[in-house]
Amino acid sequence: MAFCTKCGAELEEGAKFCALCGEATEAQSTADSVAETVKEKFNEFNNTADTTNEYDPADIENNKVMAVLAYFGLLLLVPLLAAKDSKYARFHTNQGLVLFLAEIVSSVVGLVPLIGGILSGICSIFLLVVAIIGIVNAATGKAKELPLIGKISLIK
Ligand SMILES: [Zn+2]
Repeated sequence: MAFCTKCGAELEEGAKFCALCGEATEAQSTADSVAETVKEKFNEFNNTADTTNEYDPADIENNKVMAVLAYFGLLLLVPLLAAKDSKYARFHTNQGLVLFLAEIVSSVVGLVPLIGGILSGICSIFLLVVAIIGIVNAATGKAKELPLIGKISLIK
């Protein structure tokens, strides 16, 4: 049985707050600090160059869909061919291409017995997270580099 650290009242099982005084229970404090740490780590991970203000707002507005498509595997061919004149779409197409190539490398690594599967699994999770970040950036009008792989420039 747990008790409130502030007023000493008996806590209900799994309660997040004391019913008597409203103090956060230990379980809740731990959950809060874990969430805080995860958020901090993510911000650190995603603390990359943001060059959005070098882009024409009209270009961004008109080519958001193209930019998002760049992160869906072979669909990156659509912005690559159809949005050649959009600097914003190019930015995301480049990142999408790097990501796509990394996914291919990851799949090939996965063919190596035992260790390959593990490495490939870790890579796939990482690449998925990075792809989601790219999609969110593209959809919200940001020309922000992806963590780790955003510095690589394949197309101008
Ligand atoms: Zn209490």
